[in-house]
Amino acid sequence: MATAKRIGVLTSGGDAPGMNAAIRAATIVGSARGAEIIGIERGYRGLLEDAIVSLTPGDVAGILREGGTILGSARCPEFHQREVRDRARAVLANRGIDGLIVIGGNGSLTGALRLADPEELGGQRLAISGIPASIDNDLGLTGLSIGVDTATNTIVEACDKIADTATAHDRTFIVEVMGRDCGYLAMASAIAVGANLALFPEAGKPEAEIVEEIVETVLTLRNRPRRNRRVIIIKAEGVSIAIDRLKAQVDARLRDKVPGADPSGIETRVTVLGHVVRGGRPSAFDRLLGSRLGNVAVRALLAGISHRMVAWMPPVELAPEIAVRSPADPYCWLVDLVAVLAETDNLLKGKTSLARWRAGAFSELEDALLL
Ligand code: ATP
Repeated sequence: MATAKRIGVLTSGGDAPGMNAAIRAATIVGSARGAEIIGIERGYRGLLEDAIVSLTPGDVAGILREGGTILGSARCPEFHQREVRDRARAVLANRGIDGLIVIGGNGSLTGALRLADPEELGGQRLAISGIPASIDNDLGLTGLSIGVDTATNTIVEACDKIADTATAHDRTFIVEVMGRDCGYLAMASAIAVGANLALFPEAGKPEAEIVEEIVETVLTLRNRPRRNRRVIIIKAEGVSIAIDRLKAQVDARLRDKVPGADPSGIETRVTVLGHVVRGGRPSAFDRLLGSRLGNVAVRALLAGISHRMVAWMPPVELAPEIAVRSPADPYCWLVDLVAVLAETDNLLKGKTSLARWRAGAFSELEDALLL
């Protein structure tokens, strides 16, 4: 494929801290190498509305430390329709954009692949590069996506604060974190926080088992010496039981099991971190990750490489037919987008070796969390 000369950049789906670092790096590196870099606002929605902004190195000065995305993001369900994608391709052709960097999650990268489907493109030239950005870390074939590290740090910081009050009052807290289909954030932050239990959808536990597990954990830890009785449980939002219902069921079981106990002393407290987990200044690691992925993504387009996602230290062996190590950065791989999306689908269904390893490794750890 020929080298792209006018390269659009968009951010799509849920925002993730570190997206700006990727925008900045693509702009600076692309401009330095003779390409024109163009920002597209609000993801595919902005593309359809021809919402174009200039991106010169001056335009991206100072954005490295900002959370969110300077380009804005949106969901655009109409993009599933062929005629809507035709309109988007017409906007790109009209603007002379022949390369596109899409920064986003599973859905955004699927949209990119369909936008650049050779059959749908007809004769139009459009090269695409995907950059994984999603705090959930639910994309396959990359070790990490942009935003995961900052989100984990935010959870750890919040739980450290919660742990202070939990310790002072010998209380049990259930902390709900983002993660609809993928429990990575709950698992990783539980280890980093020193939580006593993590609940994540991949474990596939029925409601009653989850309730019993929490009750057993609380009863075990209640017998410890003071200053060591607090219980922190991290629950991914994707675990099917709603948090209020979970609290009600656990509290009822605890009242049954410890008759005579002061209810306010044993009842659980709930904290839902919600969108707090998405926000904030990117960590040093996410700034570095975004910068490096942005650099590799734009260089791929400049080298005539298309239909790839830039992966960060993939956690599995990659066959040469689907991936090459980036000549620009030995920590990054250029992986075939079709393979990425197939692996992502399997990861979310718990079918990949990585998904099995994550859940298995965690279940082995579970007992240790109570020590
Ligand atoms: P997050 O991980 O934060 O959910 P995401 O990129 O997976 O990010 P989605 O809402 O799934 O977020 O997708 C973002 C956008 O990508 C959608 O609003 C839509 O415009 C486009 N998109 C998603 N799936 C497809 C698809 N199958 N075909 C075409 N476009 C799609």
